[in-house]
Amino acid sequence: KDIDALIEKLETHHNIDKEELVTLLALEDPSKIYQAADRVRKKYVGDEVHLRGLIEFSNYCSNTCFYCGLRGPNRTIKRYRMEPEEILQCVKYGASVGLKTIVLQSGEDKYFKITTLCKIIEEIKKLDIAVTLSIGELSTKDYAELKKAGADRYLLRIETTNKELYQKLHPGMSYENRVRCLMDLRELDYEVGTGSLIGLPGQTLEMLAQDLIFFKKIDADMLGIGPFIPCENTPLEREKGGNVEIVLKMLALSRLLLPDINIPATTALAVKDKAGYIKGLKCGANVIMPNIGIDEYKKLYKLYPGKVPDNPSEAVNSLENIKKLILSQNRTIGKDKGYRKKILN
Ligand code: SAM
Ligand code: SF4
Repeated sequence: KDIDALIEKLETHHNIDKEELVTLLALEDPSKIYQAADRVRKKYVGDEVHLRGLIEFSNYCSNTCFYCGLRGPNRTIKRYRMEPEEILQCVKYGASVGLKTIVLQSGEDKYFKITTLCKIIEEIKKLDIAVTLSIGELSTKDYAELKKAGADRYLLRIETTNKELYQKLHPGMSYENRVRCLMDLRELDYEVGTGSLIGLPGQTLEMLAQDLIFFKKIDADMLGIGPFIPCENTPLEREKGGNVEIVLKMLALSRLLLPDINIPATTALAVKDKAGYIKGLKCGANVIMPNIGIDEYKKLYKLYPGKVPDNPSEAVNSLENIKKLILSQNRTIGKDKGYRKKILN
């Protein structure tokens, strides 16, 4: 009874306090949360699933995040950088198959000058395609220049809002600067995406509830939430990794708190669970990010294992697989750029 009332409150008012979120996160049978999230998703953002074509253009990284295979000190992976022409080739392919958003993602690689990135963005915008960047922490000035060149959106996960855990997992980085970046992006009028890694060692349900409160507080336009998958040759290689059910609860609760935003069913979720995309789409997600990069490089962008099989066209996040999967769920493929349609406030 109490649980039904909580879910109903969340479904109608999109607000709830931290203790109540913890109660819902701890539920043994979360099916009612999932169903409510599915109803809210349908009501606010409809049956369309927006595709965002992902190009992983460099796997060089100067940071040392404990969970990530691309961390600078990992000398066991081969590093690559795509030439601007190669990036634009992939973009043109994306445009030719009807994609309306391109996501440019990389490690924190100082090699690419802001002016170079601006030129690439300007070229993409000529094709009437929205540009999302996911290239880490930069100065206010750099974010402003990229926005001026035409970038529309920016993804920067907070990873965890627990400061102590954040500092433990990110030597040399600071929680305050991460938040500063998100505030800058907001101020500069980007559509702002953030999110968390689920299943980090030491992470509790209270911390996850706090993450949800943070997403609501900053009024995130997009939320990327996926399981942490332990990666070899990183300090967390022997850890257990995230649990699919908790990821789904976090997706569903995000949808209930922020009904009109864009929420991807993440690649990590699909790698962790064969039915991950489908489960995500049923728990509030309305975005998927097919990888449209070059096969040779896809294999080298190893954040975690299992991302790319020997034959990359068999990857869970290939465009073909994703299109089939969406249609099999009686959902449609979004035809426009899929901006957040602000319905509330
Ligand atoms: N370097 C940029 C950044 O950190 O924002 C963008 C690329 S980074 C690889 C994108 C995301 O990958 C991170 O925000 C992190 O949550 C996720 N990631 C890294 N290692 C992971 C792992 N082992 N399992 C699951 N997700 C991981
Ligand atoms: Fe670098 Fe991003 Fe990986 Fe951290 S998560 S090591 S910043 S690529």
